[in-house]
Amino acid sequence: MIDRFGREINYMRLSITDRCNLRCRYCMPDGAALCRRGELLTYEELLRVAEAAVGLGITRFKVTGGEPLVRHGCVEFLRQMKMLPGVEQVTLTTNGLRLEPLLPQLAAMGLDGVNVSVDAADPAVYASITGSDSLGAVLRAVEASADSGIRTKLNCVLLEGCEEQILPLARFAAGVAADVRFIEVMPIGAGVDSRGVSSETALEILRSEWPDLRLTGEKRGNGPARYYASACFSGRIGMIDAVSHSFCRTCNRVRLTSTGWLKPCLCYGEGVDLRAVLRRSPEMLSGTMCRAVWDKPRAHCFQEAAGVTERNMMSGIGG
Ligand code: SAM
Ligand code: SF4
Repeated sequence: MIDRFGREINYMRLSITDRCNLRCRYCMPDGAALCRRGELLTYEELLRVAEAAVGLGITRFKVTGGEPLVRHGCVEFLRQMKMLPGVEQVTLTTNGLRLEPLLPQLAAMGLDGVNVSVDAADPAVYASITGSDSLGAVLRAVEASADSGIRTKLNCVLLEGCEEQILPLARFAAGVAADVRFIEVMPIGAGVDSRGVSSETALEILRSEWPDLRLTGEKRGNGPARYYASACFSGRIGMIDAVSHSFCRTCNRVRLTSTGWLKPCLCYGEGVDLRAVLRRSPEMLSGTMCRAVWDKPRAHCFQEAAGVTERNMMSGIGG
């Protein structure tokens, strides 16, 4: 569907849980409040939202969280999403902790891609960011995922003080022939208190090893990443830099939080309560979603933190 600024909205991020088995300090630090279980949308409700979204022309879905693989039944939900008539693409974003044993099922159902979040290549730095010493398991899952034939990408948030992780992570991605994307910290939830590194700084560091990195202009998925290629790097290096480079003019997405709040823009708390609609007046689902998409704001205001009205944690929103 086209919004009031003429943008085609065809992509939805579905957060299926606000629970997580990590505690990344910029996303869900210790003590983060959790919703009550009854506040989460059921899988049936999520499928009804996806069905209505398809009716509006939203045909690509990313399942996220929290950590989606900690919710019981996630794999079956992904399979049902894949089978919904009109759905063109279902992908998953995960921290990778529970990924490896599920890969055969995910490959068999035709999952269209998996993004694994890894912010450091050094186990101690990884533990200091996530509160967990599970880096080895996550890296093994990335290798196995790339081997399984599922399109696999690494996501790495650019944190101040962790600049020395950038090159080793990129080398690791090159070793498994995966793309790696570096993400600027956004001032949402615990991200407000986290200092980040700009994509320009990251590129400077990367060019010390791959001096011929050049912008390709390629689109490799549904996201706003700008991709760089080098003759000596097998995949691509992407930059997702919402803070230093606005890409709102071509934004194609809406988000559904784990409690069923349809968010047209990450930056603002405004949206509609689809859980209430689903539970009280389901016949209004499609019309309500259509109005919310139409009213999607023109742009975020991450450069002026005072304008950011979103108060939830990224773990509930879905990133
Ligand atoms: N648990 C899964 C994972 O880590 O990939 C899915 C949910 S997580 C919220 C989705 C993505 O959002 C991750 O790549 C994470 O690094 C990113 N993220 C979380 N908080 C962020 C912030 N404040 N700024 C930028 N990215 C953030
Ligand atoms: Fe969990 Fe992902 Fe947030 Fe880390 S970024 S706390 S893994 S939801």
